[in-house]
Amino acid sequence: MTLYVGLVGRPETHHGTPVNVTASAGSVFAPSWVLVRSVQPPALSRHELVPQHPRWKTYAGRYVSELRAKYRRDRAPFVDLVEQAAVGDVTLCCLCHWATEERPVCHRFLLRDVLYAVARDRGLWVGQEADELDMTLLEQRRRQVLEAEGKWLSEEAPTVGSRSKEERRG
Ligand SMILES: [Zn+2]
Repeated sequence: MTLYVGLVGRPETHHGTPVNVTASAGSVFAPSWVLVRSVQPPALSRHELVPQHPRWKTYAGRYVSELRAKYRRDRAPFVDLVEQAAVGDVTLCCLCHWATEERPVCHRFLLRDVLYAVARDRGLWVGQEADELDMTLLEQRRRQVLEAEGKWLSEEAPTVGSRSKEERRG
């Protein structure tokens, strides 16, 4: 009952149901082609594509914006996917074999976080055991996304993880 990230055409990376989330597959969860081209060669080399790169940060913010707009327009595909992940494993698959948990420069990682948020919003538990490490990682990613996006949080949007430190500080 977890969302994994894996690679298209590499069954050894799949847990449960593989879902192709690439633009080439026409996935509703894919970034627009304009965005895809902004970080793929020749725009950036694989070597340059790191989470700290300004172009990646812009990409991440815009991609989350696109997802948010889609979610507002039609929640069904998001809800369907998290409901599927709530009853069985789902692997979000893309072609970016150079992206890893340590270097998460593929939209799958951002999508996974957004889907976690949707799941929580729906009161569904999707994810690994909620230990401290997972929550810290989620919180870190959420901050990365927020920093890049600057406005994911709103009344409408689902939120990831527990209340932020900022809120607690009040
Ligand atoms: Zn990718």
